[in-house]
Amino acid sequence: MTKKKNDLILLKIEDMGDGGEGIGKYEGFTFFVKGAVIGDTVEARIMKLKKSYGYARLMKVVEPSEYRREPGCVHAGRCGGCQLQAMDYEAQLAYKAKKIQERLIRIGGLARTPVPEIMGMEDPWRYRNKAQFPVGTDRDGNVVAGFYAPHSHTIIPCTDCRLGAEENQAVLERVLAHMRTCHISPYDETACRGLVRHVLIRKGFATGEIMVCLILNGRKLPAAEALSASLREIPGMTGIMINVNTENTNVIMGSELIPLWGRGYITDRIGDISYQISPLSFYQVNPAQTKKLYETALEYADLKGNETVWDLYCGIGTISLFLARSAGQVYGVEVVPEAIDDARENARINGIQNAEFFVGKAEDVLPRKYEEDGIRADVIVVDPPRKGCDPAALETMVKMQPERIVYISCDSATLARDLKYLCGEGYEVRKVKGCDMFGWTVHVETCVLLSQLSAKQHIEVDLSMDELDLTDAEKKATY
Ligand code: SAH
Repeated sequence: MTKKKNDLILLKIEDMGDGGEGIGKYEGFTFFVKGAVIGDTVEARIMKLKKSYGYARLMKVVEPSEYRREPGCVHAGRCGGCQLQAMDYEAQLAYKAKKIQERLIRIGGLARTPVPEIMGMEDPWRYRNKAQFPVGTDRDGNVVAGFYAPHSHTIIPCTDCRLGAEENQAVLERVLAHMRTCHISPYDETACRGLVRHVLIRKGFATGEIMVCLILNGRKLPAAEALSASLREIPGMTGIMINVNTENTNVIMGSELIPLWGRGYITDRIGDISYQISPLSFYQVNPAQTKKLYETALEYADLKGNETVWDLYCGIGTISLFLARSAGQVYGVEVVPEAIDDARENARINGIQNAEFFVGKAEDVLPRKYEEDGIRADVIVVDPPRKGCDPAALETMVKMQPERIVYISCDSATLARDLKYLCGEGYEVRKVKGCDMFGWTVHVETCVLLSQLSAKQHIEVDLSMDELDLTDAEKKATY
């Protein structure tokens, strides 16, 4: 390498990494450049040089890519939320589909995976039904709400994120005005002092119902009635509450909820199922795309009406209830007790009687139900958090020998790791589809259908993990 730190280099961006950074080669070295888009020619300054790769800062786009666009948000680049604001939406979809394919090939050892179809959004703006705004102080001591800058807890003031509901702005402005009038301090993470930590806002897009939850380092908000009266003027307001979090932690929500006004939950609809959602429960953030995802899961489950179906990591029972009408019996498993309360209530309000829910970890509940109660499965649906399925859950799934497994994943690296295991235990990947739930970010949801491998369908997997050159992030995703 003829260049050293701080030198300028000219790079053609030929690929994009997991975090959305542009990737280009210079004298055989791979350089990662944040903010560069595939197809760009850029001038970049070398910031760090390793043995065969380096990091460079984007200085100038010399020749813009055909996929480059003007960011649709004034905070792009400073806010840590979106990584692909400078990229055309169709190109984002292509990037995500390729990322799924690469992970399944490289980590999953599924050498013949084609580029999967990906379901894009009709309108990639204002799709999020949930927002959590941190509250803090700016340099001049003003109370602000917004989003964290990348890799930091510095708040970029922003009361209207274009990915979220329009009402968020009115809610935040009223909360901030109330804090100023009543001299209420925001929480200071370093000193562990101050009251208001976050504002959580959820909206049911199908019903218009809005819930505001103030996360406080305490149990009491001064002049709470005045704020509540002000928030109630916003059309759709359904419930206002306090969540108590007095811990010195990065976890946003505490476990105690104190109602201020209205209901402790909102309702929403996906397809013809209604869901009740309380503040502590997980609910998919993009309802329009969730419908497409669940329809794919239903199609992959291929139910005839008498099957026993397990829905592991079921949250408030969204998928369980979506499948229940086409199945004989559905069992849901979820670790958050409040979510299971919602799931049971959701079954009741939809008149669904063939769904039963268990609180606990999938890796504890499933082996117990199988080994002690002899419960079986025709189809198992899993939708785990980013870390994927626990090995004990996967082992029991294999022992139960369901005909089909539908795996929904928000992290294609852990998905690929788990598919590799399942494919070594008699299952075969039959279908893969991507679903874009998070436009302008690097995240993507994947839905996979596995079925039992019959002898004649046997496919030789011609790549083993040892032969592959895995990146550190990919290695971390493997056991
Ligand atoms: N299927 C649901 C929720 C998916 S999110 C939906 O589409 O809405 C993943 C869920 O898994 C969360 O609700 C989380 O609380 C739950 N969870 C996390 N770890 C778990 C575990 N070990 N066992 C069971 N549930 C778990």
